[in-house]
Formats: sequence, structure tokens, C-alpha cells
Amino acid sequence: MSAVIYPTTNLAATEQLSFARGEGVYVYDQQGKQYLEGMAGLWCTGLGYGNQELIETIEQQLQTLSFSHTFGGKTHQPVIDLADKLAAMVPVKDAMVFFGNSGSDANDTHIKLLRYHADITGNTGRYKIITRERAYHGVTVAAGALTSLPANLAHFQAPIEALGILRTDHPHYYRGALPGESEADFVARITGNLEQLILAEGPETIAAFIAEPITGASGVIVPPAGYYPAVQAILDKYGILFWADEVITGFGRTGDVFGCDSMQIKQPAMMTFAKQLSSAYYPISAAVISGELYEPMVAASAEVGIFGHGYTYSGHPVACAAALKTLEIYERDGLYSHAAEVGDYLEARLQELTAIEQVGEVRGRGLIGAVELVEDRASKTPASDLAKRATQAAQDNGLIVRNVAGNALAVCPPLVITRAQVDELVDKLGNAIEQALAAR
Ligand code: PMP
Repeated sequence: MSAVIYPTTNLAATEQLSFARGEGVYVYDQQGKQYLEGMAGLWCTGLGYGNQELIETIEQQLQTLSFSHTFGGKTHQPVIDLADKLAAMVPVKDAMVFFGNSGSDANDTHIKLLRYHADITGNTGRYKIITRERAYHGVTVAAGALTSLPANLAHFQAPIEALGILRTDHPHYYRGALPGESEADFVARITGNLEQLILAEGPETIAAFIAEPITGASGVIVPPAGYYPAVQAILDKYGILFWADEVITGFGRTGDVFGCDSMQIKQPAMMTFAKQLSSAYYPISAAVISGELYEPMVAASAEVGIFGHGYTYSGHPVACAAALKTLEIYERDGLYSHAAEVGDYLEARLQELTAIEQVGEVRGRGLIGAVELVEDRASKTPASDLAKRATQAAQDNGLIVRNVAGNALAVCPPLVITRAQVDELVDKLGNAIEQALAAR
């Protein structure tokens, strides 16, 4: 037993797998066994492992200026270049960018930005945030209250009421639809529920609605067509901001640059990024807001003084240099269109797994997908034990996938994956499910 307290782990379980190195889409354990990293680590290593160009950029930045903070008027070129680059890319109007170190702290920053904005505009009654069932937005005290997964929410006395967190339906048609309900009727019903919630709470008390364009941690849920346009229409009606958490879906994951592009989310007022922003070579996150939100904060400065929020590592020069180079490589190497093309292939190959009776639903978009396992298709009874065993069988066969939402297997490989490697991934995944079934 080491002294490590492991995150998101059964603390009584023993350490199982120790990685020694990585190369491309593969990682190797201490014994030298190779695994296809079908989850890009934790949905984050877009460029895979051992990208020499990125490593050299990081080394160079460490040599040149290994640290500079950005408090109180200090700055440096990498942070300026990265903010300007992001502002030019995102669908947020007149975007401004605040940097942090993780998806969780970026979401906390967003909550504080909303509260700061409300405070300086004399609107402190407008502070509530609508999140959704099955949402994952991080685990800090505030972001953890936006997360809806039981394991992350229970036992921590999350300040749900103090933060004004409200929960609405998750758009999972396969699990959420009533018997015989069409997709359109399902969308109309759950967005109707959203409007009822807004009216019951008082629209003037609600600041924002947060959503992962495609949810990751809760099982890779792709909402039915028409869901986001219907949500947007309701939010517009009541002046509630759309906040897109693109920590997983940002930068090519869904086959477009942003999940918002894939999901017809036209103009979010706020966006959250982390993970693939630097391909996980260096921790960095970004909280992006519209100019309309930012301007009153600047205008209030004469009276308010400093904007008193910031992390030591906000805009860390090495992290910014890593992110800038990552974005340059994504663009230069055509990885967004590559992800779209290989992603279509992955989705088509995953669909073949429906030949297995216990595969209840295959879903995904671009290079993110999930296979939901059930006891039988009619009852849709979750086959969680089977999913656990299949995940282990995959690992035994040299494939890393993630068991999510109890009975689903998620895949989210590095964007640089080739078609042949997609074949390896899906073949090994299918074999793992068959092996787990045979061992029953
Ligand atoms: N938002 C989303 C959508 C995420 O998937 C995650 C992490 N899986 C987070 C926020 C939190 O990011 P981090 O773990 O870097 O704090």
C-alpha cells in the first residue's frame, strides 16, 4: 500500500494497473504489456502520447520563462496569444477568457463570474443555475454541486441550496422516454418541464443553464434532434444564459471543433474548456464569457476596485504554450476533419456490436461513443455486472475502455487514432463483451 489517496476510486480496493510509458495511442504497463488507450486517458489526450513537437515546445517554454503570474497587471506573451486564439475560435460573442488549471475550477470561476456580474449590476437575486440529471461538471465544492452523479454528490454536503442549483431532465431518449413516446414528443415533454421549473422558481431568479453538449461521464448521451434549439428558445424567452461545458467535447472530439457545432447550439454566453485544450500535456482550463457579460465588470472597476478572483497558475506560461501548440497541431494536421471521418467509421463499427443481444444501445458522435449493456432488449434491465466484467476482459486483452453509468462502456480514443486502430478497438471491445458473456 502506498500513501496515495486515489481519486474516484473504491478506497478499500487494491492498486491494479501501473503504467510506465505511452506512445501514440498506446500505453504500456510496468511489465511492458501494450494497451490501446481507448479513453484518451480521461477523455483528454487528443494528440496521444509522446508528441515530440509538443514536448519540445514545453521544454522551450520552461527554459525561457518557467513561471509568471497574471495578477495585478503582470502578463506574458503566451497567455495573450492563447486568449486571443480562443476568443477568435469560439462561438461566444466578443469572447473574453479566464484561465485556470482544471475543468472543475473553471466551472467554479463561471459561478463566481455570474455572481460578480449580478452583484455589480445590482441584480443579486438572479443567481440560480439549472443543471441536469446525470450531469458531470467537476468535483470542487461549487462545481460538485452542479454534478448530478450520485457518487460525486452524495456524502459531501454539497451547498446546493446556497448556490441555487436546480435540476431538470436529462435528454436520454433510450432511458427517459415513456412507452410509445416519439423523440419529438419526448423533447417537447422534457423542455416543457424545463419551462415549468423556470416559471415555478421565477425566471428573474435564474442566471444560467449549464449543459455538456454531449454528456461524457454519465454514459455519453447524445440528445435527440431538436432538443437544444427547443431549450435555447425557452432560455431566450426568459433571458437565461446558455453555458456550454465543453471540457470533454471541445476541440474535435465530436467531429466538429466544438460540441456546440455538432449539437446546433448557436451562441452560448459561456463555455468551459480543459482536457484536450492542451491534450493533457500540461494542466490548463479556460472559462470563456461573452463581452456583454464582461463589459459591466470593467465599467464597475472604478468603484469596486480589483476583481478578486484568481489562481496562482491562472495563465501559467508553460500551460499556455502547450495549449497554443496543441491547437496549432490540431489545425495544421487537419485533426478536426480527421476526427469527423474516423469518428464516422468508429460509430459505424460500434453499431455492429448491436448483433450481440445484450447490447441495448450504441450511441455517440465523432470520436466519443458508448455501448449500453442490458439483460435483454425488451426489459432494458441494466447489465452492470456484465459491463464491469467486459471492462476487465478488455483490459486483459490490451484495451482500455471505461465503465460508466453502471452498465455502459465508454470509448473516447485520442484524435490521432487511425482506422486500423479503430478496428483493433472495436474488435477487442466486441470480444471482451463476448468473453464476459461466456464466463457468466
Ligand atoms: N466538466 C466536464 C464536462 C467534465 O467531463 C469534467 C471531467 N471529466 C469536468 C468538468 C471536470 O474537469 P476536471 O476533472 O479537470 O476538474
